Amino acid sequence: MDFELKPLPYPKDALEPHVSAETLDFHHDRHHRGYLEKLEKLIGGSAEARESLESIVLRASGTVFDNAAQAWNHDFLWRSMTPPGDAAPPDGDLADSIGRRFGGLTDLRTEFVEAGVSQFGSGYVWLVADGDRLAVESTHDADNPLRHGRTPLLTCDVWEHAYYLDYRNDRERYLEAFFDHLANWKFAAANWSERAARR
Ligand code: ZN
Repeated sequence: MDFELKPLPYPKDALEPHVSAETLDFHHDRHHRGYLEKLEKLIGGSAEARESLESIVLRASGTVFDNAAQAWNHDFLWRSMTPPGDAAPPDGDLADSIGRRFGGLTDLRTEFVEAGVSQFGSGYVWLVADGDRLAVESTHDADNPLRHGRTPLLTCDVWEHAYYLDYRNDRERYLEAFFDHLANWKFAAANWSERAARR
């Protein structure tokens, strides 16, 4: 097997009450596993499969891209969240940069939630580094900012499978709960400080 599902970085009930264990059970064990199983069927055992998932995402097209990017995006999504008791607001250079770029965390929240709400259909909302500039972007379906030369810092999955069991069709309330209670700013700060190494 070239593509295997990694365990979540926290127990399935760790994000409750904002994201339920039932949602994580479906989202991680079925949806995320499904993308890896499809990728294994498509390219398992080939030379391409021995590359890093990121390099496959950067170069692949069609269904290989869709499944590789979904696998990468979900790995990144799990690390973009942290149990609510561990969540802390951004500090240091990331906090300063958010202040300079957006005005403050509340202004970033408004832009992030709005980008997620207005994303038509399935996709993701991201905080990214565009060079040394922070930006909020949304992407369609499996698309990923790496393909557009940006460094992902944090993401929220706005596919219905991410929130429908807990929030039904209220995507806005899900995005607000993600931002207010689950966003892993330590992960975002580490990605922000490592962005130079990626260029
Ligand atoms: Zn998902």
